[in-house]
Amino acid sequence: MLELVNLRKSFGNKTVLHGVDLKVPAGQVVSIIGASGSGKSTLLRCVNHLETPDAGSAVLIDGQRIGGPDPARVSRRDLRRRRVEIGMVFQHFNLFPNMTALENVMEAPLAHRRGTRAEIRDMAAGLLDRVGLADRMDHHPGKLSGGQQQRVAIARALAMTPKLMLFDEVTSALDPELVDDVLQVMRQLAEEGMTMLVVTHEMAFAEDVGDRVIFMADGAIHEDGTPAEVLRNPQQARTRSFLGRAM
Ligand code: ATP
Ligand code: MG
Repeated sequence: MLELVNLRKSFGNKTVLHGVDLKVPAGQVVSIIGASGSGKSTLLRCVNHLETPDAGSAVLIDGQRIGGPDPARVSRRDLRRRRVEIGMVFQHFNLFPNMTALENVMEAPLAHRRGTRAEIRDMAAGLLDRVGLADRMDHHPGKLSGGQQQRVAIARALAMTPKLMLFDEVTSALDPELVDDVLQVMRQLAEEGMTMLVVTHEMAFAEDVGDRVIFMADGAIHEDGTPAEVLRNPQQARTRSFLGRAM
């Protein structure tokens, strides 16, 4: 479903991704852990074309090349079309402040003409209900808690019916008492079979919900296995040292 082959990215003379290879089958939930600066966000951003990888590789979904060092080979239209198949949620919610929760979720499907306004409204209301916000649809982001805003952001990403969801430390900026509701929504998505890449510091989530854990250091994958293997029986000294600090 997703395949990264020798993905490389530098900023100036600093290499941030040193040729990452990764295959993620459909339905798998991959937790990505690692120290600050190890390249986790850059990896997700390359998958979602917020960054263009600059050497060596392509990003594939369902066998179709959707990006790589030579974006000229992919038409802009193709890129846009493939890109909406990937939903991304960030640490900071980036909701439109002047729109209600419902309008935020409706915005992309309306822009992409995914149906009539009434159809899109129903779909968006259904998604907000799914993330536990049926009674908050007409609120603006400023009137919602951080956890509620983050659940709106998840509903908004789901509104384009993505095949793959990327989460970048979506609970890191939340007050501790708001974290569980957001993790619960992610857990439900995972159970429904969504393919997910989840950069997280929530080791309990990685252990309980993830199928697989990847440990990144210095722009490379140093350990890759089941949660039990990576979190409970890491092979590399670096992983042990990181986990000693994180768990
Ligand atoms: P964190 O846990 O702090 O979020 P991370 O693992 O997500 O870290 P990245 O954000 O991918 O790390 O950054 C990896 C390295 O690339 C860092 O050294 C960072 O300073 C650098 N970097 C990231 N984006 C840019 C950019 N746009 N320009 C220059 N350097 C960048
Ligand atoms: Mg990051």
